[in-house]
Amino acid sequence: MIKENLTQLKQNIPENVKIIAVSKFKPEADILEAYEAGQRDFGENYVQEMETKAEALPKDINWHFIGNLQRNKVKYIAPFIHLIHSVDSLRLLKEINKQAIRNERTIECLLQIHIADEETKFGWDMESYKALLESGELEELSNVKVIGLMGMSTMTDDEDQVVDEFKQLARLFELGKAQYPEWTELSMGMSADYPLAIEQGSTMVRIGSTLFGAR
Ligand SMILES: *Cc1c(COP(=O)(O)O)cnc(C)c1O
Repeated sequence: MIKENLTQLKQNIPENVKIIAVSKFKPEADILEAYEAGQRDFGENYVQEMETKAEALPKDINWHFIGNLQRNKVKYIAPFIHLIHSVDSLRLLKEINKQAIRNERTIECLLQIHIADEETKFGWDMESYKALLESGELEELSNVKVIGLMGMSTMTDDEDQVVDEFKQLARLFELGKAQYPEWTELSMGMSADYPLAIEQGSTMVRIGSTLFGAR
């Protein structure tokens, strides 16, 4: 089924939009099935779960961290993480930088922007994001490379609201790109809303249940 779901998704998603297969709570066998169908980018929300899976699974998998990341756990994923989508504070960026230096590598990150009207979703609000850009602090981080933004829309049936939120995120992405032309990635869209996100300029969609089934 996973193979068929992936084929179906690829028919709906343009080639220049990367599919991140969100495998949280799913067994390694499911990940391998997607891997054997050609998928290489997988997203996880929990440090311990990602570590265990990364240890057991093929080494050419690109692991994306998309969950709420605690500073004291950065060290566990720093040796192998491909991209952290969910960076929500400068303190976290500084810790990622420290662990990247310790591992003699550069870690790519996205800033998670709070666009939904829900308290439970993390991220920079508009003011703190603009303040961060103006502060020039990102340039101080020798071993962190910020390459764009991530955001989650409100869980609602109101498509207009979701589109508005994605438009807002795309605008904030353009604002960042004006200052940092090397930014390339806008991670927005999940199973329920990825077609709308792609219309608004998403470059990465994070797909869980449509690929692996309900959690
Ligand atoms: C779980 C999760 C997803 C995938 O959600 P689906 O609705 O199953 O596609 C995407 N992004 C984040 C941040 C998630 O936590």
